[in-house]
Amino acid sequence: MAGIYIHIPFCKTKCHYCDFYKSTDFASRPDFLTALKLEIEARKDELSGEKIESIYFGGGTPSVLKVSEIRQILEKIFANYSVSEQVEITMECNPDDLSAQFLNELKASPVNRLSIGTQSFNDRDLKSMNRRHNGNQAISAVKAAQEAGFSNISIDLIYGLPEQTLEAWQQNVEKAISLNVQHISAYHLTYHEGTVFYDYLKTGKIKELPDDLSFDQFKILKQELERADFEHYEISNFAKSGLYSRHNRAYWERRSYLGFGPSAHSFDLKTRRWNVSSLRKYLQAFELNSPYWENEILSDQDQYNDYVITSLRTIWGISSNYLEQNFESRFQLHFKNEAQQFMETKHLKVEAGSYRLSTEGLFISDKIMEQLLYVED
Ligand code: SF4
Repeated sequence: MAGIYIHIPFCKTKCHYCDFYKSTDFASRPDFLTALKLEIEARKDELSGEKIESIYFGGGTPSVLKVSEIRQILEKIFANYSVSEQVEITMECNPDDLSAQFLNELKASPVNRLSIGTQSFNDRDLKSMNRRHNGNQAISAVKAAQEAGFSNISIDLIYGLPEQTLEAWQQNVEKAISLNVQHISAYHLTYHEGTVFYDYLKTGKIKELPDDLSFDQFKILKQELERADFEHYEISNFAKSGLYSRHNRAYWERRSYLGFGPSAHSFDLKTRRWNVSSLRKYLQAFELNSPYWENEILSDQDQYNDYVITSLRTIWGISSNYLEQNFESRFQLHFKNEAQQFMETKHLKVEAGSYRLSTEGLFISDKIMEQLLYVED
């Protein structure tokens, strides 16, 4: 089982928190689509016939494409790869792109799951993030997608925003629940270097939310979503009745995936590869028939660290058996020694042979991961 990721690098405007690779150069769109289809075809043997279980259009903003363009990309994939009949095909969409006509056309295509970038239903939050939609548009977009017949919808939320009160966050979570979606991804704001929010923070224009307030927001999120029958299956992800994101699960379960388009990453258990994060260089490489990617072969240490980082994030946790069967004793010993302190503070627990984060542990997961990683002296 394998996955495919397609990076659509266009955005109409740039959000203040976002560090994904994107471009506002829409004039390159025809050339990009040509190059993307060439890449899809050129790499058709890399998965050695493995079945594709999930296809994910991310970005950037895939919903700026026409449905006919999405169809052409999918046709190229279907013609060159072995795609499962039950494949999950997700498309990230921005609320302001979701007209009834676009949604009806999309529903008639093979796309069967939407991930809608609502981010918040609060106009103040949305304005501060430089999103193109307001709270009412976010709600209308989700309802319009449901009316068009989509029954597997994920929405995104962001918390930990500057000056975001507990009350405002609680209202956001309640609104999200009331929309009857199948999946919610909620991310704490990160100040990435190179973003507008990062500059605002450095120049004192905004202040980071205090940790205890962020933690209280996280507790509200978890408590309210679990009360509404969402399963908290990964640090930032909640799903109704097992409707996990297949695309994300492939990352966490360390399955092979191919990434197409500028900045897209690929993984085949032993090697990581990443395409150049520049639309101009990506297009130039196709013109000159030159490489547009770099790669690295993963050492045993990299593979252990990868396993820890990806597995600890999920409810399935880090399996003792898997550690014993796949990694040398130096890695196992390091893990057990470092895990002990977090077991004592109850940030980690062992259940059914797996090490899992407790609720308190979820909130300091970065610190725990850092300690569990194996770094050669
Ligand atoms: S968050 Fe999405 S829409 Fe906003 S700039 Fe980033 S990729 Fe574009």
